Amino acid sequence: MIYLKTEDEIELLRAANQLVAQTLTEVGKAVRPGVTTAELNTIADTFIRDHGAVPTFKGFPNPYGGPFPGSICTSVNDVVVHGVPGDSVILKDGDIISVDCGTLLNGFCGDSCYTFRVGEVAPEVQHLLDTTKAALYKGIEAAIVGHRIGDIGYAVQSHCEAQGYGVVREFVGHGIGREMHEDPQVPNYGQRGSGKQMRNGLCIAIEPMITMGTRDVYMMPDRWTIRTRDGKPAAHFEHTIALHNGKADILSSFAAIEQLGL
Ligand code: MG
Ligand code: MG
Repeated sequence: MIYLKTEDEIELLRAANQLVAQTLTEVGKAVRPGVTTAELNTIADTFIRDHGAVPTFKGFPNPYGGPFPGSICTSVNDVVVHGVPGDSVILKDGDIISVDCGTLLNGFCGDSCYTFRVGEVAPEVQHLLDTTKAALYKGIEAAIVGHRIGDIGYAVQSHCEAQGYGVVREFVGHGIGREMHEDPQVPNYGQRGSGKQMRNGLCIAIEPMITMGTRDVYMMPDRWTIRTRDGKPAAHFEHTIALHNGKADILSSFAAIEQLGL
């Protein structure tokens, strides 16, 4: 069941997503060699709660095991998604870290992810980041009223596979509103003209998860952490958007992060 949002609801979603954007910026400012992902988690948790919201990831139920222990997902290098923050995960020069953040503010959810560089990264890693972020915007451009969900996946997949990268199939984007995960699912792969038709009021998170090597992934014994099978790095960028007057309105933002050159 897809819940289309009113203009007022879209503004509430925008507020929750702008708080995610601010939180990601605060975390990004702290990303450097020597910092632990537990420290980044504390920064995010404090910032979200100080702004009257709740980190939606904290305690998020797991179909395979216990609830998520962190307030953000911190996925380093070959961790694709759902990395668990911890004192033992110390960032080092040349790493990348995807920080995925969710908020619940005034009854509506924010959800956005940015992959940060730790110090200097290799040129091929930079290319993975650039391609994944570009693929996100290709997907957003394909989110047009009257077009179909498969058009988004096609845009992401064709952009990334043309660079020889893998497109993860096991995890997908999603509708978002009062719940962090609503219908419809928004895969990062697909056929043009397939899937549900998009309408004004549709609010979705588009989130390409792209691997430098093959697209095969596996779950760690903690039942959260997802790694690439071949150990090569993965990138993850996510925006929440609303369809509005026929086209996509991006409710989250990377503007502050990019202004800082992160
Ligand atoms: Mg997310
Ligand atoms: Mg999401």
